[in-house]
Amino acid sequence: MIQRRGFRYRLYPTPEQEARLLAWEGALRALWNAAHEQRRLYLARGARLPSAFDQINQLTELRAEVPWLAEVPRNVCAQVLVELDAAWQRYFQQLARRPRWKKKGRDPVAITEPHPRVFRVIPGGVAFPKLGTIRAILHRPLVGDPKRCTITREVDQWFVSIQCEQAVPEPERRPGPVVAIDRGLTNLLGDSDGGLVPNPKHLDASLRRPAHAQRVLARRTKGSQRRARARLRVAKLHRTIRRQRAHVLHVLSARYAKSHGVVIVERLHVAGMLRGGLGRHISGAGWASFCTMLRYKLEATGGRLVEVPAPYSSQTCSACGVVDAASRQGDRFRCVACGHEAHADLNAARVLLSRGNLGDAGRGGFRAVSGPVKRQLRVVRRGHSTVQVPGLLKSPGLQAG
Ligand SMILES: [Zn+2]
Repeated sequence: MIQRRGFRYRLYPTPEQEARLLAWEGALRALWNAAHEQRRLYLARGARLPSAFDQINQLTELRAEVPWLAEVPRNVCAQVLVELDAAWQRYFQQLARRPRWKKKGRDPVAITEPHPRVFRVIPGGVAFPKLGTIRAILHRPLVGDPKRCTITREVDQWFVSIQCEQAVPEPERRPGPVVAIDRGLTNLLGDSDGGLVPNPKHLDASLRRPAHAQRVLARRTKGSQRRARARLRVAKLHRTIRRQRAHVLHVLSARYAKSHGVVIVERLHVAGMLRGGLGRHISGAGWASFCTMLRYKLEATGGRLVEVPAPYSSQTCSACGVVDAASRQGDRFRCVACGHEAHADLNAARVLLSRGNLGDAGRGGFRAVSGPVKRQLRVVRRGHSTVQVPGLLKSPGLQAG
């Protein structure tokens, strides 16, 4: 099987390289917004949506007229259009929310060179088209063939991610123990082995800090140096929280992937990802990334992630199966039918475990779920392509930025 791994390194661009990277970010954001707007217009007029291919074909004309877009390597521009197309496809398949405008300061912009051999990883740096060699700390060696290269910014720090592919023998199926994990209501996680993972205290402390910094920011005069510094401080505090969250999820997913052969989790739908779950300490998006971590960590060691339907798991008795909202009292579960008592977070995990086992019946093994469940396209194409819709160049979305 082909193993895909990403290797991420910190980049140290020179001031000239950084200025260029920031300009590219602005140009790519404008390109995304223009191409997104074109798709919205087509959709509103009932025309066939342009494909990534259609939009890439318009790039030549666009780059000839917009000099700051021509500064960005063509491949990198094209990749933005490919990613926009993928985002719309995920939306139509109900796997993700509808793509939206990229807003400066809110949405990250990735600078991706999708072709190997155009970029190069060399000792002490990464050579990227039109930028030369950017100094990098290569703290561990690349394994496999480098396929693509993505530069991203986290507030004032730059990173490069090199995606590599390598043919490896299929890992042996590991029969290891089975566990179900559920997002807790009073805890971070509960599992069917009876383990409760409390919310990390340090994260709670971190979460209070941006609020104060935000109030300071609100007091600063618009356009002032002190306001810029205050904004940087807020952004850095949010970055710290993002990293602390990701760290906690990496440690936990690694622990479960190591100790168990099959991990059962609730199948999360787009609606759940949007809402984030009532009263839960892990957001829907956080849970989705936890499941992604679990999946690739389990696959690497021959284990498996199994997703089961989640409805009413918190109101279902894990002992007798009776569903009743009255059984839930805060963080206690006391079954109104059979009197079974447990911590609510543990009861829900055991319900997921039994659902995973039920899905097993007669099939001689857990149903393997390797990716999100694909559903039928709903509304994709209506009407005909004869409707007149402006091209990329005329769409109102393209502004210098
Ligand atoms: Zn019961």
